[in-house]
Amino acid sequence: MKKRLLVLVMAAAAAFSMTAYAGSGRTLDEIQKDGKIVMATNAEFEPFEYKDDDKIVGIDVDIATAIADELGVDLEISDIAFESTIPALQAGKADFIAAGMSVTEDRKKNVDFTDPYFNASQAILVAKDSDITGRDGLNGKTVGVQTGTTGDSYCTDEDGTSDVKVGEVKRYEKGMDAVSDLIAGRIDAVIIDNFVAGKLAEKNPDKVVKLDEALTEEEYAMALPKGSELTAKFNDILAELTESGKLDEIESKYLGDGTTGGETEAETEAE
Ligand code: GLN
Repeated sequence: MKKRLLVLVMAAAAAFSMTAYAGSGRTLDEIQKDGKIVMATNAEFEPFEYKDDDKIVGIDVDIATAIADELGVDLEISDIAFESTIPALQAGKADFIAAGMSVTEDRKKNVDFTDPYFNASQAILVAKDSDITGRDGLNGKTVGVQTGTTGDSYCTDEDGTSDVKVGEVKRYEKGMDAVSDLIAGRIDAVIIDNFVAGKLAEKNPDKVVKLDEALTEEEYAMALPKGSELTAKFNDILAELTESGKLDEIESKYLGDGTTGGETEAETEAE
């Protein structure tokens, strides 16, 4: 009897440690044995991840491909809603997230971030004839945001700290759909990441303008399960890609004219 109880306790302990282990994601060894690493993203975010015909391309895809190459595995992309990326990572459905994801204190409770690789901001898009000329102009207005993004949190003002108080927030799965509503006059502005905003404005040059003033300053990083042994490895590879100039090369390939995301704090420190 005693022995059986001990076996039960041991089984319970083993099950517990396995759950704890699964929570920190697959190990490098497991990924290499499988031959592929799975990236969660939302491919509606040009120039970081978007569809070119049926292929998913972009800055994040190229960086992730370079990381997968370095690890000696193939890259598999899981294209899902942006707000589903963290739950997918936590459920073990993906090994990492590369989705133009900004580092926030709130997300840090659920994921581990790599060192940042890109400086970004939440930009303001308005209709060409709009009287909104800067961030203060958003007070009391109806704005469109992408669900679950930093632009969404800022405009929704969850913690009451946002200095600009918008009137109403409309949420969209795709930035492009928000821009359609902006053009149709259903909303007063769209809040979306600056380079994505630039692409959207470029596509509608007669109707949409990106304002010079931004709403927030942010940094992009890749996200891994909490406690993942891969984070340090990703940081080493990101540092190598920065040092070799490969990161700048990838960025200017998509941003044009030698434009890059600028130096993140981590990159400056590395010098
Ligand atoms: N950078 C924003 C965020 O992290 C938006 C990212 C996205 O829509 N892919 O919330």
